[in-house]
Amino acid sequence: MVKICCIGAGYVGGPTMAVIALKCPDIEVVVVDIFEPRIIAWNSDHLPIYEPGLDDVVKQCRGENLFFSKDVEKHVAEADIVFVSVNTPTKTQGLGAGKAADLTYWESAARMIADVSKSDKIVVEKSTVPVKTAEAIEKILTHNSKGINFQILSNPEFLAEGTAIQDLFKPDRVLIGGRETPEGQKAIQALKDVYAHWVPVDRIICTNLWSAELSKLAANAFLAQRISSVNAMSALCEATGADVSQVSHAIGKDTRIGPKFLNASVGFGGSCFQKDILNLVYICECNGLPEVASYWKQVVQVNEYQKTRFVNRMVSSMFNTVSGKKIAILGFAFKKDTGDTRETPAIGVCQGLLGDKAILSIYDPQVSQEQIQRDLSMHKSELDRPPHLQPASPTAIKQVSCVWDAYEAAKGAHGICILTEWDEFKTLDYQKIYDDMQKPAFVFDGRNVVDVDKLRQIGFIVYSTGKPLDA
Ligand code: NAD
Repeated sequence: MVKICCIGAGYVGGPTMAVIALKCPDIEVVVVDIFEPRIIAWNSDHLPIYEPGLDDVVKQCRGENLFFSKDVEKHVAEADIVFVSVNTPTKTQGLGAGKAADLTYWESAARMIADVSKSDKIVVEKSTVPVKTAEAIEKILTHNSKGINFQILSNPEFLAEGTAIQDLFKPDRVLIGGRETPEGQKAIQALKDVYAHWVPVDRIICTNLWSAELSKLAANAFLAQRISSVNAMSALCEATGADVSQVSHAIGKDTRIGPKFLNASVGFGGSCFQKDILNLVYICECNGLPEVASYWKQVVQVNEYQKTRFVNRMVSSMFNTVSGKKIAILGFAFKKDTGDTRETPAIGVCQGLLGDKAILSIYDPQVSQEQIQRDLSMHKSELDRPPHLQPASPTAIKQVSCVWDAYEAAKGAHGICILTEWDEFKTLDYQKIYDDMQKPAFVFDGRNVVDVDKLRQIGFIVYSTGKPLDA
């Protein structure tokens, strides 16, 4: 029986390995992590991450051919294929701080693999890493190998949180990069055999290592660029009376452009887009390409601008101050169907409102009060933020309450601000909400989910992203 071990039981390691175990009953899969509470949660009825469909998949194979363990070294030593899916955040200190990827976790995983291995292994980069990382990993492994053969593959993950299980069941493509040597090609084939259990072979793309590594950064950069492009257009729409939804519909009909990923919003979030673009910027700079670097940097800057613009618009429309005013924040996760708040635009927007002394009542169906308070007080060192989007002070944090109901959040509020596109926000009883609010009652829709005409009929003053202003 082939044995797979995955180092890192996070948003990627957990779901990807659960799906491999489900689709490959002839393979034993062990997911390991140094963070014990996560492993305990994976072995319980309350999984550490919320992802539609994940519970079912885990229940079907946990204890059969899927295991979660904190015994990292033992399971790495026994594996034929070791996936490494550890975090690769942006460096906060030293050379490349604020842009380069922090590969500390990767390096320590690689050294541990070399240390404990007693048999040949295929080591798979699952984390998103800078192009050429495999070369560094190869050096660490081969210089410490004690005669063991390690083949490094790049197999970046393209799942999106919120749709991870369906993305893993039916991936647009699986990308495997490896060395062009006979050993490298053999390793590629071994990993291809795993995916071929359920992925049609014409969807499995094999490339050299560097193309695979760079393709992941390129994919995220292109996706984020598309969001920044439509958001930049939304600013112009607001200034001119054009409607960004109509513009998106019109341009999306062009088959060269296509309709997906053209929704204007308060900005992109999540753990990947910003960090991967900053990483790309750093790689371009290191390779003597400052113009290319500044092109990609602009994608992140437009995203920051969109959040600033949103906060400024809220404050200016509420008579130039939100001081002492209660604002209901609906949604805090970076997108619907996840509880993940990493880099969520809600952080910057809430910090901006707290900076003007607003009182916030926050509701998100999947995010806890502890998480929200931690996020709002954390220091964001990786970007040059405008002064009003700075971490909230302990005094400001006291102005934040978290409630478990949108109606409760809106009670007595001067304004509602929608920051995550949860489906339930489309069907709220807005008449009831209006009746319980201060007047004039404002709605600021950062995700364009509400029926603007209906809300205006009720009496709300509505501001949607990229839409003509309320009269
Ligand atoms: P995560 O922070 O949720 O999980 C990483 C896990 O690795 C943590 O639980 C951590 O404790 C563990 N870890 C770190 N060092 C370890 C070590 N030496 N031994 C054992 N465990 C260790 O991160 P994630 O969201 O799963 O992302 C992982 C990688 O995948 C990142 O490079 C990310 O960029 C990439 N990625 C993420 C997504 C996504 O949607 N989250 C999508 C595609 C790719």
